Amino acid sequence: MIPFIDLATQQIRIKPEIDAAIQRVLAHGQYIMGPEVGLLEQALKDFSGSQHCITVSNGTDALIAALMAYDIGPGDAVITTPFTFFATVEAIMVLGATPVFADIDPRTLNICPNQIESTVREVHSQNKLQLRGIIPVDLFGLCADYSRINAIAEQHGLFVIQDAAQAFGASTPDGQKAPTHGHVGTTSFFPAKPLGGYGDGGAIFTDNDDIADKIQSIRIHGQGVDKYDNARIGLNARLDTIQAAVLLEKLKIYSEELDLRQKVAERYSQQMDMIVDSTGQQVIQRQHIPGGHRSAWAQFVILGPHRERIATALKTNDFPSVVYYRTPAQLLKACQGLTQQNNLPVSEAISSRILALPFHPYLNQDSLDHIVETIKSVNVNTCD
Ligand SMILES: *Cc1c(COP(=O)(O)O)cnc(C)c1O
Repeated sequence: MIPFIDLATQQIRIKPEIDAAIQRVLAHGQYIMGPEVGLLEQALKDFSGSQHCITVSNGTDALIAALMAYDIGPGDAVITTPFTFFATVEAIMVLGATPVFADIDPRTLNICPNQIESTVREVHSQNKLQLRGIIPVDLFGLCADYSRINAIAEQHGLFVIQDAAQAFGASTPDGQKAPTHGHVGTTSFFPAKPLGGYGDGGAIFTDNDDIADKIQSIRIHGQGVDKYDNARIGLNARLDTIQAAVLLEKLKIYSEELDLRQKVAERYSQQMDMIVDSTGQQVIQRQHIPGGHRSAWAQFVILGPHRERIATALKTNDFPSVVYYRTPAQLLKACQGLTQQNNLPVSEAISSRILALPFHPYLNQDSLDHIVETIKSVNVNTCD
């Protein structure tokens, strides 16, 4: 079976560099906040164009620390998308605040600005919670609609925290890179993300000096002048030096890998669009990438009828596929206590139709063709 995400090919490619980087850490022995951590933060700033970068233990802690920098807690509401990995919602809830969901756009699969506007009105009119901010997610690597989201946030005095766990280095038509589109941006270095380490990791980006200072403090037990001078309640949320060393090497080939991801996605897209039924109608839909956007392609997803049959056919041919996300957040057990009774039909409909295909920068043409042929056989040979 080919891997859903192939991390081995990349490892073979840069193994000598990774080995040497790890050996350097073992030699200097500064496992916590060693020199590689600062070097990685500088390299991530250079790559993204952000003023500040604070690396952290994972993408979830990145969101929690960012929310803590805005003193988010009980009584506060934060608008987010229901169609995301649970961590986005969890970060809000673990601080005692209330996530309020705004439904997604059926084409981009990202949070819909019109829905944000109506959700803002709803929260304001209920007058129970203090609305503080918005966390858009750049789903599967595609940036959300920040020109509209930032305008709505500005109008209502809300912060925007960009959850770019799946989209580090994705760009909008103006060339700006994720995660620099909001007041604060976060990403994850979980191994399967576009820029993944060999363990957990994450980072926070901002141009705001005060927020950056607060997050630096929160990362290390709310430290003041040092970690025994505690100025606030914080976390133990540092990135390991070994992970920073690994990520420094992976970052060196990341631009090239983003190009490779783009090429694989283009091949997939062209072939998917050519799958038509007997009336010439396109059978398979895919995530719409608006003009000028460049996705980081964390996943390549299709939306079509017969999802389970496609998954089964792929499996029979030794191709894995995964459903992201089978259950939108509002239907998760962990969210049942939420008072919000929003109708979120788009996220529910998409959850029942979506399927992620094997995808990574090194997916070869042969495998890709075979995957497409398999999908074609399901749709062309069935008549319901
Ligand atoms: C992976 C992910 C996270 C959490 O990142 P971790 O590093 O696994 O904690 C948060 N949000 C989204 C959208 C993700 O995909």
